[in-house]
Amino acid sequence: MRFLLDGSLGRLGRSLRMFGIDAEMDTQDLHYLIGRAQREGRILLTRRAVRPERIPATLKVIRIKEDHPERQVVSVLKWLGSPIPKAEWFSRCLLCNRLLEEVPSASVEGIVPDHVLLVHSHFRLCGGCGRVYWPGTHRANMEKRMERWAFEAWGDLGGEKGG
Ligand SMILES: [Zn+2]
Repeated sequence: MRFLLDGSLGRLGRSLRMFGIDAEMDTQDLHYLIGRAQREGRILLTRRAVRPERIPATLKVIRIKEDHPERQVVSVLKWLGSPIPKAEWFSRCLLCNRLLEEVPSASVEGIVPDHVLLVHSHFRLCGGCGRVYWPGTHRANMEKRMERWAFEAWGDLGGEKGG
């Protein structure tokens, strides 16, 4: 499932990327967004009301009615229907939406602070913007928030599809 979000949904886009969801953002006008979403096979998420006659038959448009960013995330997760496995969380760059690659600590020496290198052995690198990610305190806090959203939307923590 791939999405394209209009410029007013920046925070929502970032939150979707945290779950590993492919969420491109674009600040251009609605006409352009409709064209791009269609070209790239994306579902368009917008806050605006789009007249049905403007929506091509092959394009899916979802209007986000919630104002609060957290409510927006939960509503999209609900719309997805099934939980995203936790293994897929944090797999995407929050800045540019690219999938991250696992890299050994040797390859991030000099990029991340020494004290981080000492305690972590797993790093993920964005081939697009060069940002390096590792599971620190900040991520633990994000994960708590995400578990709350996941529970609200799916009734479980987005993993373990037991039995
Ligand atoms: Zn990036």
